[in-house]
Amino acid sequence: MLDRLQAQAPDALLALIKLYAADPRSDKIDLGVGVYRTNEGATPVFKAIKAAEQALIEEQDSKSYLGPEGDLGFVHALMPYIFGKDATMGGRIEGMQTPGGTGAVRLAAAVAKAAGVTRVHMGTPSWPNHAQIFADLGLELVAFTHATADGAADIEAVLGAIGDAQDGDAVLLHGCCHNPTGVDYTPDQWDAIADALAESPALAILDSAYHGLGLGLEEDAYGVRRVLSKLGEALVAYSCDKNFGMYRDRVGALYVLAKSADGLPPILSNLNALARANWSMPPDHGGAAVRLVLRNPDRTQMWLDELDDMRARMRRVRERLAAADNEVPGLGLAALADQHGLFAILPLSKEQIAALREDHAIYMAGSGRINIAGLHAGNTEKFIAALKAVTA
Ligand code: PMP
Repeated sequence: MLDRLQAQAPDALLALIKLYAADPRSDKIDLGVGVYRTNEGATPVFKAIKAAEQALIEEQDSKSYLGPEGDLGFVHALMPYIFGKDATMGGRIEGMQTPGGTGAVRLAAAVAKAAGVTRVHMGTPSWPNHAQIFADLGLELVAFTHATADGAADIEAVLGAIGDAQDGDAVLLHGCCHNPTGVDYTPDQWDAIADALAESPALAILDSAYHGLGLGLEEDAYGVRRVLSKLGEALVAYSCDKNFGMYRDRVGALYVLAKSADGLPPILSNLNALARANWSMPPDHGGAAVRLVLRNPDRTQMWLDELDDMRARMRRVRERLAAADNEVPGLGLAALADQHGLFAILPLSKEQIAALREDHAIYMAGSGRINIAGLHAGNTEKFIAALKAVTA
């Protein structure tokens, strides 16, 4: 039977990684895969995580099963950072650990489907796996335009989509640091979105995969907090794989806001059953390490300092690219200074992207998405010069 399967297209970004690895040019630049990089181009383990992992080796006395909800100490330790001082909103929020943010999005979509959702409204372009997860679950994607041509959020489009949404629909929004555009809603826009969602029968799903990598932990949480403050119920998918540098350890959580504290248990029982059917339980190590960071003031401070450094470095790159707007007109580089997080989309043609790769050893996704963190003091000028050459 398996010979009936049609071959699937390889993941384009993973194919790009291979091409990059095989390129012998010493000044090659990888702007493809979405991981943070230092000024030296490395993606190191956070110092706070190293310290927590050492403590974990000492403290952990069993690897026996925990259950589908994973490490609830980890899940709860994150909550004040995401939801603020009243982190449970009066006992209405609870969460469970998931295998990365991907697991959280998968579980959010699955429980939405179990509750009767058949369509998901989402701004495009988006993280490609969103559409793949919805398709796999048989949910219809209703796309609206995320960003305008001048690199700002298309607020009319999102408000229109929310206005059109019916009972049985969900609306998925990125919490901050939009992937792939870097275009986030402003606080005023979030206020309008929250008000529109409060009037809508649709279920809100918020995906927060880059918390703390935009403007700061508090600033980046504005949208999630504002939306939740106006709604009876919502789902929040969260990833620690970027903001704790845990990528391969697969660290995430799904939170649910219920209409009342009494409404939580039946929802959680559904999440448990779905987790059981999908992966049984999440991998423990990364969540435990994040818990040991957040439960220790010294390690927490180390983590906050590391996040500050990452953000400041990416801001410097954004500002340098924005300042090159005059040198390389037509790419909207000026807008990069107002955008957030790891990514930006440059309106380059397929030919220009190929020329960057072939003639300049610069690797980026076919969509024109660049990883801002792939640039640093040592290669940004080369990148700007190459952009100039391929757009001349
Ligand atoms: N949501 C978005 C918007 C993402 O960009 C990503 C990862 N790149 C995820 C979720 C999933 O992250 P993780 O690696 O934790 O599964």
